[in-house]
Amino acid sequence: MQHYTIATLGSHSALQILKGAKDEGFKTLVVTLEDRENLYSRFSFIDEIVKIKKYSDFFKIEPQLKKRNCILIPHGSFVAYLGDEGNKKISTFYYGNKQVLDWEGDRNAQYKWLKLANITLPRQFTPQEKINYPIIVKSYGAAGGIGYFYAKNKTDFQKKLKSFVPKKYIIQEYVIGVTIYFHYFYSPLNNQLELMSIDKRYETNVDSLGRIPHVNQQGLVIDPSFVVVGNSPLVVSESLLPQVYAMGERVVSESKKLMGPKGLYGPFCLETVITPNKKIYAIEISCRIVAGTNLFVSGSPYSWLMYNEPMSTGRRIAREIKIAIQKKQLEKIVD
Ligand code: ATP
Repeated sequence: MQHYTIATLGSHSALQILKGAKDEGFKTLVVTLEDRENLYSRFSFIDEIVKIKKYSDFFKIEPQLKKRNCILIPHGSFVAYLGDEGNKKISTFYYGNKQVLDWEGDRNAQYKWLKLANITLPRQFTPQEKINYPIIVKSYGAAGGIGYFYAKNKTDFQKKLKSFVPKKYIIQEYVIGVTIYFHYFYSPLNNQLELMSIDKRYETNVDSLGRIPHVNQQGLVIDPSFVVVGNSPLVVSESLLPQVYAMGERVVSESKKLMGPKGLYGPFCLETVITPNKKIYAIEISCRIVAGTNLFVSGSPYSWLMYNEPMSTGRRIAREIKIAIQKKQLEKIVD
């Protein structure tokens, strides 16, 4: 594996990805802003640090990455800092199907994909039609729970819309239930879907409203917000698992019809709300490694059942690349 270097941007889940890569025998490299060099130099599993002044300088150092035979592992910061178009321009080996970016980045396209995959989704409304409340309004490009508002009725919606800056947004039924994030991994090498781990996000202030009894909230103007500040590990009732696997498999299978024969592969996450009658609503799909997997650097209960050794999502990616190289099938999993 010494022939290839696993590389990523210094942010999000870089530590997990590079630790996993080193455990699988790869050389490792991080591309980072100058002020984070100090952080990444603390970890012996990172062989090389390439500094840039700003993220848009990434393309200036790309020739260095190619010279080192790098395979780039995208994570949440790739789209946030380089944009969809920036990601598409990357010409270093890139782990993932770039066609997925268009389906994921457009909320309506994403909705269509999940609907075709027969996933239960919250109802969506246009501002013109009769809306059933409560709702959540989401701007395009919102991330980390910022760029949302909740409305309990029409007056509330119209009032909040006035001060809502984004022009592109969707209106979604607000599903009352618990939010649960399923981390999957799909391998096109053996055509298997794995459940790597599960987390729940800790969102302020929505996760704290129950701490103040309803009577004490009366008269206070408190709007729920969904700003993510942490993640907790979770296991779900085993009786839910057949449904959880089936959902992931349908999403992958539909992706092969919509976004080229390769479809969606590698890690992805279905972000869901589960209601008291155990209906699983998907509110979003993230088509790469998500930050919630950082809880499981040494594996999760689910990955332990599969591997009998510590297997993070980051390590699973490196294992996949290793197998692909050994089988001379790298082209199946890089773009
Ligand atoms: P990411 O950072 O993964 O891109 P995001 O900011 O786009 O996420 P979502 O995961 O879509 O955000 O939603 C943020 C939070 O808003 C969820 O964790 C959940 O608490 C709440 N939420 C979103 N949609 C709904 C819904 N339809 N019903 C109930 N709660 C919702």
